[in-house]
Amino acid sequence: MPGDPTRFGALETGGTTTRVAVGTADGSLLARDAFPTGAPAGTVARVAVFLAPHRVGALGVAAFGPIDVEKTSPTYGTLLATPKAGWSSFPLRGELERALPVRVKVETDVNAAALAEQAAAKLAGVDARTLVYVTVGTGVGVGVALDGEAHHGALHPEGGHLLVARAKGDVLAGLCPFHGDCLEGLASGAAIAARAGVPAERASPSLDVWRIEAEYLAQLVVAIVGFLAPHQIVLGGGVMKTPGLLERVRVRAAELARGYSPLLADAERARSLLVAPRLGDDSGLMGALKLASSRDAEGRQ
Ligand code: ZN
Repeated sequence: MPGDPTRFGALETGGTTTRVAVGTADGSLLARDAFPTGAPAGTVARVAVFLAPHRVGALGVAAFGPIDVEKTSPTYGTLLATPKAGWSSFPLRGELERALPVRVKVETDVNAAALAEQAAAKLAGVDARTLVYVTVGTGVGVGVALDGEAHHGALHPEGGHLLVARAKGDVLAGLCPFHGDCLEGLASGAAIAARAGVPAERASPSLDVWRIEAEYLAQLVVAIVGFLAPHQIVLGGGVMKTPGLLERVRVRAAELARGYSPLLADAERARSLLVAPRLGDDSGLMGALKLASSRDAEGRQ
């Protein structure tokens, strides 16, 4: 039975939480669900159970990576080696298409979020033709939207694994299974928890761990500004909900830039460059919905 061409599925597989929704092309959500991200087969099964009664016309996926996002590739929508247990080499798109069955389009979670945030900025009258979305949570990810298109390059950006200079006083070895003390290894929620001795969301904002966190994220910001000179950098993810952290990153990024880039000339300028997500926790999910309802150059969904 063909699906309803006016209804679209949206799925965001996060490192911690999976979100799934049904919506329309104008961005309205009709139903939604969320659950902890478990093993891949169980996740696909639960998504299929939720979506099946809604008979969606297509499904957009905002997936944690690394994942093949090249539409013409035989492994489009298949995960590469990932630190997330059980997910390496999992053919996410293929398994979803088998379980539902509908056409499934896949983007990285942060690229999808970047596209949705770019559209939201435009609606708000803000120039964000080059927009970078950074998530800081279970992992650290960086997505890039250029004039309404997600940037892939030969794979997709992996700015979360930027090699950074040690923050003063930081002795944590680093938790990235690939690099140890890359940005993600030093600035993920797990790294904060390892320093604080409590989960990141329970670590008091007065602790020194937040100075260290702001230092690493500010280094990322300076790198992003150096490579892409974006109109906006959106800083999202669970860790960025910590009171005062965004402002600390702005101030420190302006300090580290040392007046070289006008985009980070001072804290005030950094405030217009570095912003919280306009879509709150829904950037990735709304990006997935956009992906599902988008048409290619020939007008096909
Ligand atoms: Zn790494």
